[in-house]
Amino acid sequence: MSDLYDAIIIGCGVTGAWTAYELSRYRLKIAIVEKENDIGCGTTKANSAIVHAGYDPEPGTLKASFNVRGNELIRGRAKRMAIPFNQCGSYVIAFDTEGMNSIIQLYNRGIQNGVPDMKLLTAEEVHKAEPNLSDDVCGALLAGSAGIISPFELCCAPTEVAVRYGADLLRNFEVVSMVPDEEKVTVTAKDGRVISGKRIINAAGLYADDMAKMLGDTSFKITPKRGEYSILDSNVYGIVDHVIFQPPTKAGKGILVSPTVDGNILVGPTSDPIDFKDDLATTDDGQKRAFDGARKSVPSISERDVITSFSGNRSVGDQGGDFICSISSSEPKLINLAGIESPGLTSAPAIAEYAAGLLRQSGIEMVKRESFDDTRTVVRFKELDDFNKHEIIQNNPSYGRIICRCETITEGEIIDAIRRPAGALDMDGVKRRVRAGMGRCQGGFCGPRVMEILSRELGIPMTQVTKFGKRSYMVIGREEL
Ligand SMILES: Cc1cc2nc3c(=O)[nH]c(=O)nc-3n(C[C@H](O)[C@H](O)[C@H](O)COP(=O)(O)OP(=O)(O)OC[C@H]3O[C@@H](n4cnc5c(N)ncnc54)[C@H](O)[C@@H]3O)c2cc1C
Repeated sequence: MSDLYDAIIIGCGVTGAWTAYELSRYRLKIAIVEKENDIGCGTTKANSAIVHAGYDPEPGTLKASFNVRGNELIRGRAKRMAIPFNQCGSYVIAFDTEGMNSIIQLYNRGIQNGVPDMKLLTAEEVHKAEPNLSDDVCGALLAGSAGIISPFELCCAPTEVAVRYGADLLRNFEVVSMVPDEEKVTVTAKDGRVISGKRIINAAGLYADDMAKMLGDTSFKITPKRGEYSILDSNVYGIVDHVIFQPPTKAGKGILVSPTVDGNILVGPTSDPIDFKDDLATTDDGQKRAFDGARKSVPSISERDVITSFSGNRSVGDQGGDFICSISSSEPKLINLAGIESPGLTSAPAIAEYAAGLLRQSGIEMVKRESFDDTRTVVRFKELDDFNKHEIIQNNPSYGRIICRCETITEGEIIDAIRRPAGALDMDGVKRRVRAGMGRCQGGFCGPRVMEILSRELGIPMTQVTKFGKRSYMVIGREEL
């Protein structure tokens, strides 16, 4: 059957995206189905954006091995795949003897997990490197392999590579039913589209348990746990140069203060169980707790510098805290990649390698392509030197027209973001890819111009341009004057 996929991946977050990338090394027919109008819109877009070193997970777990391997893979691939990444290193700081014992324990765990480049620092060494830390800090664990990344680009880059190698990305495809037979699983979307695959790879994040249930697998349950954050203005960039963690507690890795790859400072997250998987509210209480926690590490951090707040929900599994990555025991055509809470971003490329192994183990013939090229080029105009700016404008004048003045984003970059494989289809998609509208004015000036470009490039009227797909139209109609 020509339209039978070898594998259908449900969910195009970072887990599904890297799985599609890894499967693109083989001559397979792949579909990635995503319920939203864009990729990376689930937990992947709202987290701490840290490429963790790997000293935190319990030795011997999938989390531990995928974290360390994922960190290595990201460091090796980020530049080639044009994923903004800064290996700035992380500190876990201690405030007292208990904290010192905790970081020594983390150091030893890191050694067991195979984490490279760790060092225990004295108070003097820490304060020399990070002068804005609290005077109470008495030592730290430095992990040199940790870094900060653009989570959206970490999802976008592998998706693009997979699409380049022929994977079908089906957006607005919300899986509502799956029916297995001897040979395949028939998957139906909410809008009535139907596709079939020999295997289903369940990377549906918070909804992975609901997907598994559709195929009779009730072996795990996912509950959401919310983390709230604030982003601080670029004028406080440099207040810390490393990711600053506090010693972990039962609730998680605690409140961090971290630079971002976009030149801001991130404060958070909280850790609060919630009732609804889609509840992404931010609260006064959550923000207060995040800042109280952050000030313990960096006393001068202030709410006055907040430019925006957001929250992300962790997919907490109920299988002893580890990732759930296995062929389902109830339905052999189902592979679950579930319970992917932190360090899921870091682990995604390694989870994908494991998923490819599971697919082979499930009986799918895997024949490698003769060559595989994952190189990716993205023009970031404001990062070019004057010579290259001049040259690119000569070749393509649309790079000479600045659309977003706050972030210096050109028309050429916006057109490219729309035309690329797995490109932007809406305003938020443009914003996430090129940062048009992310600056101080939050799109007040560039919004209408971005709408015009989307309308022209997608061949749709302005009244059909949406903020984030579905019925989120930017304007409600046209008034003739
Ligand atoms: C507060 C917080 C902080 C974190 N910090 C870090 C960190 O610093 N470093 C790190 O390594 N990890 C971190 N993580 C973890 C990391 O963000 C996640 O592990 C990762 O993003 C999970 O990706 P995913 O692809 O599995 O899930 P998602 O990104 O949620 O993707 C699942 C996709 O499935 C789609 N989907 C769901 N249901 C359906 C359906 N019925 N049909 C079709 N599609 C569907 C969704 O729309 C979504 O796009 C953090 C997480 C949180 C919440």
